[in-house]
This record gives sequence, C-alpha cells and structure tokens, in this order.
Amino acid sequence: MSTNTAGTDLDELVRAVEDRNPGEPEFHQAVREVLAPLGPVLERHPEYVKARILERLVEPERQVIFRVPWVDDGGDVHVQRAMRVGFNSALGPYKGGMRFNPDVTLGTIKFLGFEQVFKNALTGLAIGGGKGGADFDPKGRSDDEVMRFCQSLMTELYRHIGPDQDVPAGDAGVAAREIGFLFGQYKRITGTYAAGALTGKGTGWGGAQVRTEATGYGLVYFVREMLAGRYEELDGRTVVVSGAGNVSIYAIEKAQALGATVVGCSDSSGALHDPDGLDLDLIKQLKLTERGHLGAYVERRGGEASFEEGATPWRIPCEIALPCATQNELDEKDAKALVKGGVRVVAEGANMPCTDEAVAVFQDAEDVLYAPGKASNAGGVAVSAFEMEQNASRNGWTFENTDERLQATMKQIHETCRRTAAEHDHEGDYVAGANIAGFLRVADAMLAQGVV
Ligand code: NDP
Repeated sequence: MSTNTAGTDLDELVRAVEDRNPGEPEFHQAVREVLAPLGPVLERHPEYVKARILERLVEPERQVIFRVPWVDDGGDVHVQRAMRVGFNSALGPYKGGMRFNPDVTLGTIKFLGFEQVFKNALTGLAIGGGKGGADFDPKGRSDDEVMRFCQSLMTELYRHIGPDQDVPAGDAGVAAREIGFLFGQYKRITGTYAAGALTGKGTGWGGAQVRTEATGYGLVYFVREMLAGRYEELDGRTVVVSGAGNVSIYAIEKAQALGATVVGCSDSSGALHDPDGLDLDLIKQLKLTERGHLGAYVERRGGEASFEEGATPWRIPCEIALPCATQNELDEKDAKALVKGGVRVVAEGANMPCTDEAVAVFQDAEDVLYAPGKASNAGGVAVSAFEMEQNASRNGWTFENTDERLQATMKQIHETCRRTAAEHDHEGDYVAGANIAGFLRVADAMLAQGVV
C-alpha cells in the first residue's frame, strides 16, 4: 500500500485499525482492501486529509451490543448475543442486513458494515451503511423458537432503528420468516405501522417485488455487463456457483434464464456437480422447503450428478464462477484451480468470499475479470432502498418495473466502477474502481456535513 505525501500514512492507518480493533481479522481485511487504491486519490484531494475523512470512516458511528434471552420448545433458557453497528450515515439512514449464525462476532458485523458503506454509495441511492446480527443458529429450530428469538431481539433493537435512522434487512440466516417476526414485534412495541423500518417484508404487506431475487439476479446482471465489455454474452456459458441459499438460488435462476448452464453449487455439507445442468426446482425443494442438505440431490436426480462431502465446488471447470456462500470461502488454491479450469469471469455474490491471495491470483491471471461483492452484489440493497421508497410513498411497483430498475442500477454500478478505474489509472480493475468511486461519494458528503 502506498504512502501519500499529503499527511495520511495509509500503512500506519491500517496498523492503527488493527491495534484499535484486536481479534477482528475480517474487519482488518476489508479496511486494507478499501484503503489500498486511495493513496493517489488523497494526493489529489488534500481537503479529505485535512478533515480526517479516512480516520473517521474506519470508526463506526455507533455500536450496540445486547443480550437476547429466549426459551426453546423444551422449556430450556438460552442466552444469545446480538449487535447492530451503524457505520456511516453521510448518505442516508444506516442500511444493511441482520445475520443469524453461530459464528457471528462483532468483528464479522464490523467488516460487513464497513463494506456496506461503499456498496450503498455505489448504488447512487440515499442510504448509509450498517449491519447487525446475532450468534443464534436458526438451523433445526422450530418456527415457534425462531419467533421467540426474533421477538426477544426486537424488544431491545426497536429503540435503535426506524425509517429515518437505521433500516435492517435480511442476510445469511435471516429471510422472509425472520423479517416477519421481527416486524411484528417492532409494530407491537412501537404501536406504529412504520413499514420503512425493516426491508425484506412479504410482498402482501409492504415488501418490494423482486427483493427475494434481487441479489442473485443483480449479480448476473452485473456479469452480463462485464461480458458485454468483451462483446460476449451469457448464453452458452458454463457457470459454477457456491452456496445454495438466497443469493445462490436466484443467481442460478437468472443465469439459466439467460442461457447459461450452471453445473455446480454447494452448501455447508459439500459440493454438487451436475454436468447436465442443475435442476433448480429440486434444489429449491431441498433447500427452501425441506431445509435439508444437497447430498439428497444425487439420488433424486439420477444421471451424472455427484456430490462430494466437505468439498468446495471450485475444482469443477467453468467459464464463470460466482462465490455466493460466505466470507473467505475461496482461497489461493481454489483460485488457481479455477484459472486452470478455464475461468474467465469471477463475480462475488457473497461479501468478501475471496481471500486476498485468491483475488491476487485472479488479478494477475491474463484474461480473467474479477468483480468485488460491494459492486456485484449490490442489487439486494438497491431493491431494499426501492422498498423504503415505496413504503414512504405508500405506493407499490410491479415486478417488471422493479426488475427494470434493478437492471438499470446494476448497469450504472458497473459503468461507475469501469469509468472510475479508468480515470484513476486502474483500467479494467473493478476493485479499485468500486473502492475509489464509493469512497469519493461518501467522502464528499462527509466533507459537506462538517466534523460530525
Ligand atoms: P443463506 O443463509 O441464504 O445461504 C448461504 C449458503 O451458503 C447456504 O447454502 C449455506 O449452506 C452456504 N454456506 C454457508 N457457509 C458455508 C461454508 N463455510 N462453506 C460452504 N457453504 C457455506 O445466505 P445468503 O444467500 O443470504 O447470503 C450469502 C452471502 O451473500 C453472505 O455473504 C451475505 O452476506 C451475502 N449477501 C446477501 C445478500 C442478501 O440479499 N441475502 C445481499 C448481499 C450480500 P447451508 O445451506 O448448508 O447452511
């Protein structure tokens, strides 16, 4: 990372972040990635240095951590830890999902919240960055248990959120069921139907069309733009996706609709390979309806399909790879295997799924385009912002209209990243383009709003 001459030593700032936030390696990784291309930008903009924009950006505006006690179906009491981090509100109310996963720590939520600041800026919409979550595992829990947990969590969270303050949504482990329970308790405690306080609601009661599909669809729309830059199309391409959750399923759906053959996906139990192309209805049945594992696919589907326990899907040869499961799921060896297998486009559906070393492999490889999640997976939060807009105007858009706006947003994000990279001597580098463009929009707003 370069040191700039205008007064901020970026290496020193990264070290300060590491010292000030010990034991949070994912947060450090996210900060390193965003800061890496900013040296020359700060040289052009001494006013950002004077106003200590970067030093303020790496410190969340606020962090709330609280206890969530709940009672399971057998009468046993459990105690979980939940948190909500408001990272930056220069562009609008804090906006970002809630994650329920036993591995959730404050460091995870801070990395996700930090990424969210720049992602939300790239959408061009009026949303700040935030994130939240709890170390609760919804897997194997009954609907009643999930409801009691969500109600207990909201009994504290309600005082920190609101349509103009902080607007949570779903993330891994939090989907329509959880948002419903969270919203019900928010409504009951506050005595208001403030629909814009949460997004990802059911489409019959304030939710936006396309929100469920938005991250996966948006990812594929972004890939379409990357390919278009090379005068290529998705039709006829071979695709591998990781994960089999919300983002993965709708990425598969849209890639198939645009003529690609998706030959692999995965879940936390292993990797599935189906050379004939995945049967998405069967995957939806296994993952969304039965909430089971992918292993059962092979027997029910027959044919050439195979499942490898504990494996990642990155040894399956493909032209387009879409990591959509979780952070740091794709390492240097996986990246080398993908390049060897002929990959030409890698676009992140998950947040930071590629390690630093894996990103370096893609960026060094000849003829491989790589897009970071803060650009390529921004479709989800964009449609969440559309949901806020509809809630504020008490209006409802059709599926087609919302999907068109999602496509326009992904095209605009792609163009912003491409153009910004070119303007800053990083032609073809989506990482630099996304980080610089996101930073500039937030930095200008912070500058205008004074030292707050
Ligand atoms: P889900 O919980 O719906 O799905 C996650 C999927 O990844 C599941 O199939 C899960 O397996 C699998 N998985 C989780 N951990 C691992 C692992 N270590 N190895 C292999 N597979 C794993 O989450 P989402 O689809 O909502 O989110 C996925 C990623 O996308 C996250 O990084 C999230 O932050 C990001 N994202 C999500 C958005 C959204 O709108 N939902 C928006 C933008 C980003 P199993 O089914 O066995 O649990």
